[in-house]
Amino acid sequence: MCDSSKIPLNVLPSPLGGEGSGVRGAPCVFRSEHPKPSRQLACARLGLRFGCGCRVLFLALLISQSIVPSITAADAQPAFRLRDTRPKHDNAKLAKAGIHKYESKRLCLYTDIDPNLAQPLPALLDQMYDAWESHFGKLPPAEDKSAFQVTGYLMKSRDIFRDTGLLPQALPGFSHGRHSGYEFWMNDQPTDYYRRHLLLHEATHCFMTALPTNTVATVWYFEGMAEFFATHTLDGNGRAKFAVMPHDRDSFSGLGRIKLVLDDVIAGQAKDVASILSLTPDDFAKQNSCYGWSWALCKFLDTHPRYRERLRSLLPVVRRPDPKQQVADLFAKDWPQLQTEWILFLTNLCHGYDIERAAIDFKPVKPLASGTTAVKLSVAAGRGWQSTGVSVQEGDMLHIIASGRFALAKEPKPWVSEPQGVSIRYHQGQPLGKLLAIIVPDISQVPAGQQFGTSKTLPIGREAEVTAPVTGTLFLRVNDFWNELADNAGEVAVEIRP
Ligand SMILES: [Zn+2]
Repeated sequence: MCDSSKIPLNVLPSPLGGEGSGVRGAPCVFRSEHPKPSRQLACARLGLRFGCGCRVLFLALLISQSIVPSITAADAQPAFRLRDTRPKHDNAKLAKAGIHKYESKRLCLYTDIDPNLAQPLPALLDQMYDAWESHFGKLPPAEDKSAFQVTGYLMKSRDIFRDTGLLPQALPGFSHGRHSGYEFWMNDQPTDYYRRHLLLHEATHCFMTALPTNTVATVWYFEGMAEFFATHTLDGNGRAKFAVMPHDRDSFSGLGRIKLVLDDVIAGQAKDVASILSLTPDDFAKQNSCYGWSWALCKFLDTHPRYRERLRSLLPVVRRPDPKQQVADLFAKDWPQLQTEWILFLTNLCHGYDIERAAIDFKPVKPLASGTTAVKLSVAAGRGWQSTGVSVQEGDMLHIIASGRFALAKEPKPWVSEPQGVSIRYHQGQPLGKLLAIIVPDISQVPAGQQFGTSKTLPIGREAEVTAPVTGTLFLRVNDFWNELADNAGEVAVEIRP
């Protein structure tokens, strides 16, 4: 059967819609030594194809077979953080030139933008500092016992900053922002959101540079974590939440990281995890989407219950020789699961995508016994794809029967459905609430260099007989938008018969 184009084309947002011209460019361009070459982790770039083909998602890979590294004595942190060598400025003289200083504990900001726009920015960084330390751990103290503070230059007119010496002639050129030690420079941005985002991005680089770890060499991590922390919401009282998943386009005006990723996916330029770990500074300079990919990987790992702690343990790992291999080793024990979930994440990525509820519990699998034996299980309405633990061979016939009532929404009142779904709203061309199936091949069984793909989605409803289109494990879910799983409740009782 050959209808694979239906699934991703229905799932992925139109490349013409939404953020379009509002997507801002690369926040900063930096130069550093490329990561040292290491033994090959994975061979080919992920390519998601949307043409006619019996498999919808394709990935060629080699799997790294390595041990998980342990913390060693060499991981011990130095006693002091990077020395603060920021210059002192003549504030009165700068004020006459139209550049004013706004200061909080963590940020000293020099800018010529509207004071109403500038005033709230330093306090934002004071909130951010707690988020950094919560993730990376406490900075070592300064040798001179000074508190951590960075200086930012937010420029509406670069000429004024050049003339007053705040924008050094020796500073390499940049399109949007650049950092060096405890200082950063950035051009003013057309949207309030992206002005704050870029400021937080560059300041995160300053914090990471002050860490006793050369994270610059691991470029996906250095840029991805800056994007990760900078993606924020702000309430009416000025309270920020950092490292959030963008829940809509309008609240993150000018960001467009999801669009950058999806545009690559649609163009057949999707990246698998190993490809992201291999990104170089030149890649970031040439492809704006690298910021989207590195953000997506950091956000995915940090939000996923199985990988969160490992992302948070990366600092000592990236300090070691051959950091790319060290990072891959950290994920080696469940590399096949990570690759599989990454593909499903890319297939369904949208604003507000619920990474935590879409996380997959990979059960041990066994074939469905012959005869009349049925496998019974429940499928939670508030989760993504769920393994049945049933393995099937291509061409196997399966008889699936589902029953039960569950809720697809809580407000304004519980919206109750049964496994056939409710034909008021549709997602992927199927009613919300309808029981769906896919077959997910075992990625670790795919020989190196060969293509990997999940099956098309199979509509089940109350009862269906289906023929397995590929060999793999049967997964089920209740149809719903990937950003609306949180308000679902209840489960479907399922019987799978041969
Ligand atoms: Zn950057």
